[in-house]
Amino acid sequence: MAQNIQSTDDLLKAPQESKLIKNMRAIKNKIMVMSGKGGVGKSTVAANLAARLADRGHKVGILDADIHGPSIPKMFGIEDQKPTVDENGIVPVSVTENLVVMSVALLLPDRDAPVIWRGPAKMGAIKQFLEEVSWGKLDYLIIDLPPGTGDEPLSIAQLIEKVDGAVVVTTPQDVAIVSVRKSIKFAEILEVPVIGIVENMSGIICPHCDERMELFGKGGVEQAAKDFNLKILGDLPLDPKLAEIEDSGKVHDIENEDIEWFKIFAKIVDSVESFNN
Ligand code: ADP
Repeated sequence: MAQNIQSTDDLLKAPQESKLIKNMRAIKNKIMVMSGKGGVGKSTVAANLAARLADRGHKVGILDADIHGPSIPKMFGIEDQKPTVDENGIVPVSVTENLVVMSVALLLPDRDAPVIWRGPAKMGAIKQFLEEVSWGKLDYLIIDLPPGTGDEPLSIAQLIEKVDGAVVVTTPQDVAIVSVRKSIKFAEILEVPVIGIVENMSGIICPHCDERMELFGKGGVEQAAKDFNLKILGDLPLDPKLAEIEDSGKVHDIENEDIEWFKIFAKIVDSVESFNN
């Protein structure tokens, strides 16, 4: 534990507001991916959004701001890589030519090490990720936030001059919808425009016959979208093939795009691409 804290202390240098602003201004679109609850597919949406935007030729960075449950490096098979430092700052880990990643998981001594930090250390790390990482000129920075409406999304929204949009992820169950409504309200209070809602694990693709079946009730996400005057960007099925792709660290592998999940996801990417443009 002491070792983890010490390694972040190394990163927590004197604040340089202007450097942070300059760093963020070099990035055209800063998009937060949020959810009310954990386990609904927020990191899945963040990782796939980043990978598919990169496939389309955009320069993309993904900031894994889920400090206690970082899963982005695993999804891209880079958990054992370490960021380096050069004269411009911390160099994020490259997944492909167009895609770079920064995550607290890349700084930990081993895969099982937990992050045991209080609020100020977490805030310091997030600030460092925005300020000291040499993101360079990006078209998109996708920020995978922890679930809920705590310190991390608040710090990000306050540190970045202008967050261009938020994608809100939920599953169709009431327990998830109740909390995602709070996330939408939270984004509104922070004046972050919500691009829309992604309904994940909406139905299941049978691994035997590839047919889609509804698992949970429908209607709650539509109601939330109506109440907040938002678009549902896509309803993604539960597909064991997707979990397999993520577990094997191949989210950036475009050969898997012929499954239904990816076809629906392509429409979500269209909506993000056309937002603000
Ligand atoms: P969160 O970031 O909301 O905690 P994750 O994106 O980490 O959730 O997803 C939790 C687990 O569920 C991961 O193992 C992921 O691969 C799996 N998963 C997410 N969405 C789907 C889906 N639509 N089909 C199959 N597995 C999924």
